[in-house]
Amino acid sequence: MKERLMTLQEEAVEKIEQASSLKELQDIRVEYLGKKGPITEVLRGMGKLPAEERPKMGQLANEVREVITTKVESKQEKLEREELDRQLSNETIDVTLPGRPIRQGNAHPLTAVIEEIEDLFIGMGFSVAEGPEVETDYYNFEALNLPKNHPARDMQDSFFITEDLLLRTQTSPVQARTMEKHKGKGPVKIISPGKVYRRDTDDATHSHQFMQIEGLLVDKNIRMSDLKGTLTLFAQKLFGEEREIRLRPSFFPFTEPSVEVDVSCFKCNGAGCSICKRTGWIEILGAGMVHPNVLEMAGFDSKEYTGFAFGMGPERIAMLKYGIDDIRHFYANDLRFLEQFKRA
Ligand SMILES: [Zn+2]
Repeated sequence: MKERLMTLQEEAVEKIEQASSLKELQDIRVEYLGKKGPITEVLRGMGKLPAEERPKMGQLANEVREVITTKVESKQEKLEREELDRQLSNETIDVTLPGRPIRQGNAHPLTAVIEEIEDLFIGMGFSVAEGPEVETDYYNFEALNLPKNHPARDMQDSFFITEDLLLRTQTSPVQARTMEKHKGKGPVKIISPGKVYRRDTDDATHSHQFMQIEGLLVDKNIRMSDLKGTLTLFAQKLFGEEREIRLRPSFFPFTEPSVEVDVSCFKCNGAGCSICKRTGWIEILGAGMVHPNVLEMAGFDSKEYTGFAFGMGPERIAMLKYGIDDIRHFYANDLRFLEQFKRA
């Protein structure tokens, strides 16, 4: 019986060494170590042995089983490694092949213009402030010197959600909210870009949704000349060093005095062309000195503090800058339009 076991071990080891695939190895394992294999058979036959020989023979049978198992395992590792090497060498990547082009998006022209304007004012020490698009009647109108039933509210036909909540018609509520946070202490120096909404019929120059950027500076001794200086610098950075600005009297409920601001035409240099409607000037924004009522309502002492505010439409700036003739292009999201504004 001992000889039989040793022969089995030799046979098995030889076969294992010759095995050339995992499948073959698995078959050998089953053949020798399986329930119907020769070793199990030998163990079953042990009953016929004299009692004193049984433990010895059992130990030997287990040793043989152990040897075969270890052999199978190490051979399996070797075969698996070879298989992996084979796969790796078959799947070599050809790094010289041309890649698939990645379609790269670009900023929306309005985003680009807003970021450019933001950068200009950040460079002058302003910070960017944002506020909610669903606004209360108080911040959208009352805090800006537009009490209920004030006729100037007619200029901003609105989308009301409830009696007291509406889609903001301007970004000015952000000014009121920011001033309140300062609790009567200047300086306040912000620009607030964002979406605003008005009940307008969409056409080439009107949209029910559009963008605004407003600026606010409140501090001691702020004068109209500071406003003019700031806006001149802004116009020159945006439209060219030779630009001049012109202020025309106007009316806004939240500023006093109020002005419309024109920039000298960047196309014809003031000679008169179709863009400036032969006047040499292009209207770009509205501005003024912050109304004392607005300062007081936001907690500032209007005898101690003064300020200026201005507001513009990024759509209008973008239309002028890029020669776009219809505001609806900004919101139609036609890629043929949008892809023309890739930044270098
Ligand atoms: Zn012109």
